Amino acid sequence: MATLPQIDQMPVDLSARVQGRLFDSHGRVITDLRVSITDRCNYKCVYCRTGQVGAQYAELTTAEYLRMIRAFVELGIEKVRLTGGEPLLRKDLLQMVRELSSWRTTSGQPLDLAITTNGHLLESLARPLKEAGLTRITVSMDAVDEATFERVTRIHGSFHAVVRGIRAAQQAGMGRVKVNCVLLRGFNDDQIEGFAEFARREDVIVRFIEFMPLGEDRLWSPEIVVPLREIVNRLSAVFPLLPLTPNSASETARRYGFSDGVGEIGIIAPVTQAFCGACSRVRLTSDGKIRTCLFSNFEHDLYRQMRNGASDEGLQEYILRAVDKKEARHHIGEPGFLKPSRSMVHIGG
Ligand code: SAM
Repeated sequence: MATLPQIDQMPVDLSARVQGRLFDSHGRVITDLRVSITDRCNYKCVYCRTGQVGAQYAELTTAEYLRMIRAFVELGIEKVRLTGGEPLLRKDLLQMVRELSSWRTTSGQPLDLAITTNGHLLESLARPLKEAGLTRITVSMDAVDEATFERVTRIHGSFHAVVRGIRAAQQAGMGRVKVNCVLLRGFNDDQIEGFAEFARREDVIVRFIEFMPLGEDRLWSPEIVVPLREIVNRLSAVFPLLPLTPNSASETARRYGFSDGVGEIGIIAPVTQAFCGACSRVRLTSDGKIRTCLFSNFEHDLYRQMRNGASDEGLQEYILRAVDKKEARHHIGEPGFLKPSRSMVHIGG
């Protein structure tokens, strides 16, 4: 993966720091940071992992992640999502959440702090995470029947552990849990209607995600993607759906409610209905590199800056330069599209 050392020399408008908001060169406000705090994972999901132990990159210390995250927050980041790999595998996760939940944004609000997890270890961690200050949680779950679920994760016993984890999070009072399901044609697309029932029964927000070309084994093809339109049609045939207003302009999911008001569905359609124009996200990989787009073909090595002795101000200037290079949009499915050399498990979803 290439890095762009020349950004050290690029002129950059540092006024973003003064305004307390972070802008890219396309005029988008960057408010969300996703941080992969490990690239280890206890699942081997078929669309993500090869089934072998994948390439492992460095995992940094909590203090190192926190220092880099603080530089982003002081520039205007309002939401931090901890992800991975599997973030619940980190032994010091509670300590990290406790620290982050005590921070304020540049406008003086508490940081909006979330985690994306496969939920396997959530049953016992949900309450401690809530007590440590976590406000929102998203659990990935790609099937509502046990056999299909275990065919996806390739881990025996995973289904019931995740369902117990989701229930524990709901009971811990972290608000309505979001449940993310990546759909692959011919693999788990028969789960769509079952997920609608699951959303209603468990009172969770189920969000279907179009499959993106980010797996380790390059399984992706346009035919495997189950497009938003098809998901809406399938759901509507069983439960009438009503579009809901977005919670924010940069929300990734199109929201739908059921006509009787019970349950909610979201559809995240980066392939057929890209939302790059409203993208507010940047990512920090588990080895401390800034990615300004999931599909970036280059990264900016913030960790190296830190290791080389950069001051806090120096880190912020480096971030400003990287954000200034944020891509206008991705090019999935277009001729010449280059799949990133890192997969989701390394980048952080
Ligand atoms: N281990 C955690 C989990 O399972 O949620 C966090 C990391 S995982 C990489 C984050 C999210 O990315 C999951 O919801 C996963 O389903 C999604 N994901 C992984 N590969 C994907 C792909 N190729 N296309 C769309 N979503 C993907």
